[in-house]
Amino acid sequence: MTRKIIQNGTVVSLDPDIGDREEADVLIEDGEIVDVGHGLSTENAEVIDASGKIVVPGFVDSHIHLAQTQVRGIAGDWSLMGEYFDHMLGNITGLYRPEDMYLGGLFGAFEKLYTGTTTALDWSYPNTLEHGERAVDALQDAGLRAVYTYGPPGDDAAKWWYESDVGLPEENIRELRQGKIRDDDLLSLALGLRGPDFCTDETARGDLELARDLGVLSTIHMGAALWPSSVYGGDYQGFGCIEDMLGPDVNVAHGNHFSQEDIDHAVEQGVSFSSTPEVEMQMGHGIPVTGKVLEAGGRPTWGVDVCSNVSGDMGSQMRIGMQLQRMFDNQAVLEGDEEVTAVSVTARDTLEMATIEGAKALGLDDEIGTITPGKRADLVLFDTNDFMTAPCHSPVQTVVFQSDPSHIDTVLVDGEVVKRDGELTNPKVDEEFDRFVASGERLLDEAGIDL
Ligand SMILES: [Zn+2]
Repeated sequence: MTRKIIQNGTVVSLDPDIGDREEADVLIEDGEIVDVGHGLSTENAEVIDASGKIVVPGFVDSHIHLAQTQVRGIAGDWSLMGEYFDHMLGNITGLYRPEDMYLGGLFGAFEKLYTGTTTALDWSYPNTLEHGERAVDALQDAGLRAVYTYGPPGDDAAKWWYESDVGLPEENIRELRQGKIRDDDLLSLALGLRGPDFCTDETARGDLELARDLGVLSTIHMGAALWPSSVYGGDYQGFGCIEDMLGPDVNVAHGNHFSQEDIDHAVEQGVSFSSTPEVEMQMGHGIPVTGKVLEAGGRPTWGVDVCSNVSGDMGSQMRIGMQLQRMFDNQAVLEGDEEVTAVSVTARDTLEMATIEGAKALGLDDEIGTITPGKRADLVLFDTNDFMTAPCHSPVQTVVFQSDPSHIDTVLVDGEVVKRDGELTNPKVDEEFDRFVASGERLLDEAGIDL
């Protein structure tokens, strides 16, 4: 048995029974959190000194396309309908070779780990089974906990999007699941559905039925950008043909334009929502769904989404998403001719949306999301002895408002240290770097994207 002890840290457990503890220890055995307390025995344990550090559960990014990492920095001035669909889905994605899936996924996963995200839902467009296999290899080699999401192939936008009547490639999906994913403790599978916005009703229902048959999560891009007018001919149709199929195994990415009534219904059915606030603000998706989900009594989760555009750092998303919602809520009060005397969403709320709520959305809350004995040790240590973070008067606020990835000293996934003293431990960061850069250059070259 391997034992590790995170010693003498300020533990923000996010577990209501444990709460926040100062100068506390977290004991880990074979990757499992077994105790949170004071002065725990260090016998036969590797000691990780957490004095002057805040220990939080690893972030959960509930929506990101990791394979776009080597084309990062191209979409920062793009809108969804103006450039993104044409250039990304209609061009670049089709040029990916299996090795590009590997390199993008690998360095996307490295960015996740470096910035404190220990679990991500990786929404993938695998052109062939081999593309999917290499994307999974990347997640495994990086050591990220992940929900690999098999979406429609990226090689033919006309075939797989718009009014597509072609179901997801079932044979490939089953083979990937039986092969690489089955016995991997850190990986699970989801299906990336087009949903009624992007395929025929029969196809949308068929894909969801396939996910149910496999017993895996369905995640769907819905209710963003010009929707519903361009998609539904001007008539609002809410969840359309899948309305009677909603459940806790359905995750909606974006969902900007759903009515409050439909969000109420979906939350009641256990549907989770992934808001990707920075990308949505930029690209014309519409107002993030955050407020409607909260109004319905649910809690949204955060995602980065398009890392060809914005940084993969989840800290930015939890801050932007929260501040934007505060702005809308404050404005509503002001328009009622009253003073704003309290904020609507707290720093702790947004930290929970970035951790345990993401875990719930991915069906992983029994395993991760809080620092609780019995859960896996996915932990992040923030340094408070830095001139930019000291003095720490409120650990939650220091994490949410003052910290950036440079203050993340140590990251553990499943009890394994993946970042130590501010550096990733994986030798592939250096070994694969040149191939990663070359992959991005080739893709943009062949796509003829002139920036
Ligand atoms: Zn997306």
